[in-house]
Amino acid sequence: MPDALTIALSKGRILEQTLPLLAPLGIEPLEDPGKSRNLVLPTSHPDIRLIIVRATDVPTYVAHGGADLGVAGKDVLLEQGGHGLYEPIDLGIARCRLMVAGHPDVPLDGRRIRVATKFVNVTRRHFAAQGRQVDLIKLYGSMELAPLVGLADAIVDLVDTGNTLRANGLAPLESIADISSRLVVNKASMKLKHREIKPLLARISSVVAQQPDR
Ligand code: AMP
Repeated sequence: MPDALTIALSKGRILEQTLPLLAPLGIEPLEDPGKSRNLVLPTSHPDIRLIIVRATDVPTYVAHGGADLGVAGKDVLLEQGGHGLYEPIDLGIARCRLMVAGHPDVPLDGRRIRVATKFVNVTRRHFAAQGRQVDLIKLYGSMELAPLVGLADAIVDLVDTGNTLRANGLAPLESIADISSRLVVNKASMKLKHREIKPLLARISSVVAQQPDR
């Protein structure tokens, strides 16, 4: 009997862009994840199920064995450290950049600045690597509001088209990292379910390699 596998995904970009990578492998959810309230979704593959969790919880579920595999943004992995996980495949989806942004004509150098972000660990490391101390303000969303109301001098956030920044009178100032979603694997599962996981990884890699923008 093959071992069953659980794959953790989050709703939104990651789910929308991961399903087309799994469909060629015969892994399709039996219920529409956009509509279903179920958090455990059987798939057309008898031994593979999906679980739907928050994007920031994917690494936790996979590291602690609540799922064998998962898809997590590199931003989340950088911020949380990616402990207890293998990260074998860059899926090349949900691409964007993690950036410092602020008012376009207010220089940030030469003074101690306040930076609002939900990525406090990445931000601290980024400025520390430049030998700069910053005051961090942890937010959970709508970071671009912070400079507008004087809560912070700059923000660190994900930028795709730059429209959100522009709409709020802000501009990208420094790039911290190129971001895309990664397939992550529980370390024990990789050993114990090697027979199932190894061919799955090979097939996912080949589907990813055939994507048009790679
Ligand atoms: P944009 O206006 O296209 O630059 O998109 C920026 C907004 O979308 C910000 O609020 C980001 O947090 C969010 N965003 C952009 N790309 C991603 C991504 N790949 N994953 C998660 N959030 C993103």
